[in-house]
Amino acid sequence: MTLLELVDVTASYGRVQVLEGVSLSVPDGGAVGILGANGAGKTTTLRAISGVVRTGGTIRFQDKDIRGLRPEQVAALGIAHVPEGRGTLGNLTVRENLMVGAYLRKDKKKVTQDVDYLIELFPNLKRRIGQPASALSGGEQQMLAVSRAFMASPTLLILDEPSLGLAPSTARDVYDAISRLRAESGISMLVVEQNATLAFSVVDSAVVLETGRSVLTGTTEELRGDDAIRKAYLGA
Ligand code: ATP
Repeated sequence: MTLLELVDVTASYGRVQVLEGVSLSVPDGGAVGILGANGAGKTTTLRAISGVVRTGGTIRFQDKDIRGLRPEQVAALGIAHVPEGRGTLGNLTVRENLMVGAYLRKDKKKVTQDVDYLIELFPNLKRRIGQPASALSGGEQQMLAVSRAFMASPTLLILDEPSLGLAPSTARDVYDAISRLRAESGISMLVVEQNATLAFSVVDSAVVLETGRSVLTGTTEELRGDDAIRKAYLGA
């Protein structure tokens, strides 16, 4: 079954149209990547889903038309968005950040279990559980941002360039943990990433954006075998 479907989505900032026709679909339980050069519209596609930019076209989540909903309405339906730049709350401790992610949940026992699970998954967060988020390294803040989004118990996790600004080995660690999170929880994901090698370690398929349009979709296997993709995104 299809969880999220975009058909010919357009989006603009004021009068400037940035998305010209983006189509993609995320199967239930699947993980899909969005690849593309700087400025291709990857971040804007995620913002269109989350209701942060004005959009046209069709955006369906669990067969419900969600285009035009406000960000908090989209979140309440089960879509958690980790924006570029993370957005953790620096003055709050790691534990408090996680609890902020869970603030709408009533299942308090499961909330505690999820915190325990996440700090097992990300041992760095366990070590720093009582420290303010501002004291964390870039990689740890990314791990916290992903964890906080997971604490909302979403059906779909949207990640905007989790590797941004991280040293290669740290980015690898973050992706390894994201992979485990996916395998263990079965959560669906939509992941924007410049680094296709990292993206392909988590996603089953990906869509390529060029100047605001989706121009190619394929399984990771197919895309790895595509010469143009290898040249543009895999450093081949
Ligand atoms: P990057 O990897 O650089 O973030 P991207 O593929 O995510 O690239 P977007 O951030 O979606 O691309 O940007 C697409 C286009 O929209 C770019 O030309 C960008 O300059 C423009 N744009 C982005 N944000 C705004 C904004 N708030 N107002 C006006 N134009 C914007």
